[in-house]
Amino acid sequence: MTTTLLQPGQIEAAAGSIPELRLPPADVFLTRARRLEQLAEGHAMADYLRFVARLAHAQQACLDAGPAGEPPAADRLEQCREYGMPPLAPAGLPRPAGWHDTARALARTVQALLTPAGQAALQPLVEGADAWLDDQATRLLENDTEHVHAAVAPIIGAALQVHWTHLARQLDPAQVARPEHPNLCPVCGSHPVSSVVRIGGAENGLRYLHCTLCSSEWHVVRAKCSNCDNTRDIAYYHLEGGDRVVEAEACPECQTYLKVVHQEKDPNADPVADDLASLTLDLLMDEADHARSGVNWYLIPGHP
Ligand SMILES: [Zn+2]
Ligand SMILES: [Zn+2]
Repeated sequence: MTTTLLQPGQIEAAAGSIPELRLPPADVFLTRARRLEQLAEGHAMADYLRFVARLAHAQQACLDAGPAGEPPAADRLEQCREYGMPPLAPAGLPRPAGWHDTARALARTVQALLTPAGQAALQPLVEGADAWLDDQATRLLENDTEHVHAAVAPIIGAALQVHWTHLARQLDPAQVARPEHPNLCPVCGSHPVSSVVRIGGAENGLRYLHCTLCSSEWHVVRAKCSNCDNTRDIAYYHLEGGDRVVEAEACPECQTYLKVVHQEKDPNADPVADDLASLTLDLLMDEADHARSGVNWYLIPGHP
């Protein structure tokens, strides 16, 4: 008897139709918050992980309250689908009304947890004019992290996530075209934070990239560089002695990496929380001369 070893892409194709797009579930921020609390136990970055957990709880409360924002009209959605354009791209949508107030409310909620210096660092956001908040949001959305105020960026990003997650939840996967390039979110065109191998149901064993803005997830086969589509000599890195819940999938062609978070190794693993808690792996990849292709707004290098 001979056994044919299938590559991950072949296994997935052999399985027939698979969910290509996972629009965000109603409890996406709650799941993230709980995982962050779990990861904070005994972690070197415990205080920061708990701070982000509190922020994610506050995001869930804002999402539950039904923030402002309506997806484009049916004809516009159809046009986007026909031309393969992400329907919720920030450049093509008005900023949802009330997003400034969401940002200020999130800032006030987390300020209570911070030292006086930390509280003061968020004051520009609480007191800032709408125009300044809009400018910071535009820079964050355009990945212009050099000119983003580092202390306020996680809160601005968190507020945008609330509104865009709400927008994405009003869509149907059938309204969204498959992207020509798998490196950007098919719903809003943003970069992924990381990727996650999910367990259970039709998604079991499939790898999804998780959007930094709208929390949607799209399927990309494993062992394929999501940055340049290369499939040759993809390498996996992990921390020695670790549980391998998080690996870095590295591409020798474009010298970038994206993390893969494995739920089959820990069912509670979350693409955003586990990415944040594995910063040591990023340092290792930096030493190995690989650039990070994922974007995590909870921790971005910006200007103080
Ligand atoms: Zn998105
Ligand atoms: Zn590549």
